[in-house]
Amino acid sequence: MSAPHCRFCAAPLSVTFCDLGMSPLSNAYLQPGQLRDREPFYPLHALVCEQCLLVQLEEFESPEQIFGDYAYFSSYSDTWLAHASDYVEQMVTRFGIDGSSQVVEIASNDGYLLQYFKAKGIPVLGVEPAANVAAVAKAKGIDTQVAFFGIDTARRLATDGKQADLLLGNNVLAHVPDLNDFVAGMKRLLKPTGLITLEFPHLLRLMQQNQFDTIYHEHFSYFSLLTVEQVLARHGLTLFDVEQLPTHGGSLRVYARHVEDAGRPVAEAVALLRMEEIKAGLNTLAVYADFAEQVRETKRALLEFLIKAKRAGKSVAAYGAPAKGNTLLNYCGIRTDFIDYTVDRSPHKQGRHLPGTHIPIFSPDRIASTKPDYVLILPWNLRAEIISQMASIRTWGGQFVVPIPTVAVF
Ligand SMILES: [Zn+2]
Repeated sequence: MSAPHCRFCAAPLSVTFCDLGMSPLSNAYLQPGQLRDREPFYPLHALVCEQCLLVQLEEFESPEQIFGDYAYFSSYSDTWLAHASDYVEQMVTRFGIDGSSQVVEIASNDGYLLQYFKAKGIPVLGVEPAANVAAVAKAKGIDTQVAFFGIDTARRLATDGKQADLLLGNNVLAHVPDLNDFVAGMKRLLKPTGLITLEFPHLLRLMQQNQFDTIYHEHFSYFSLLTVEQVLARHGLTLFDVEQLPTHGGSLRVYARHVEDAGRPVAEAVALLRMEEIKAGLNTLAVYADFAEQVRETKRALLEFLIKAKRAGKSVAAYGAPAKGNTLLNYCGIRTDFIDYTVDRSPHKQGRHLPGTHIPIFSPDRIASTKPDYVLILPWNLRAEIISQMASIRTWGGQFVVPIPTVAVF
């Protein structure tokens, strides 16, 4: 394969942000019968572009090929549904989205969000690449087209009279392989006075909170306000407001409009956050290059803890089987030599094994029956919830361990 180039500005990429070695796809959970099969591993190497400072993964295979049957049903999470419903209320109140507006959502999944607009009699259209997920939305009566979004899809929809007053994409920008084609498509589909909202995990929080385990193959790009603003500007879009959200360890919701649309002034929040990023050094290459050492130190600290625990004859189990856990365990080379098993509430994961490390996944009851000395919490973002749910481990002197931002025992 030729040397990698920036997916935004096409400059050659050579500066490492974080090299997590070779890793399997984070959602490739294995059935017991697959444990002796050959398992594909791909480089998990994030680089930063010296020209535009976009943090991104090196490309290694066509996304359609690897994510073809990837199906995640958004409606399965109550917290996420509440987030979607609140968003709809805000759009109606702040921007007057009503029955005369056209709402278009990119990567609309099973209609988890558009259903709330539809309930208010607002015309909606979803664009969703996974046919099985789109079918669920259609069954709910949500108009959905099965397509990857880009300039071609946008042209076709615009010709069909589907230009958007509100065009939104939640947690899709990071997954887009051809960033420029995607944003050019948004520009094309937006009505002259329309607005765009995009949500994505915030690179500043990833770096400050050491959330390197949120780097996985499905996430091609990692955005700061500075980089997303550049990307939008190149395609004739102005970022006019920004909000910080607690989702995924710290996300941004950015608001954009056509450069030509002077009706929406740029809010002060944009300048404030831009200043915060500049103060943190996100406009210089050095701070990105330093991140790699922080990641290596986390690996050493976690291994040090586990080696000490095992030498002392302690037993360790894990809680959760999230994608981020797979990045962490594969990077650190932690298998059943350190962790006996993990547990997860999802029945789809129980009975399977984690990709790469082959750690078995059981139902949470297993913890009460084996009474481990330590429970390593892999979804650290749900730490408070898990510690209260599993409080009974205290009865046998069990303790919780959280690996991120630094290894800590509770
Ligand atoms: Zn670049």
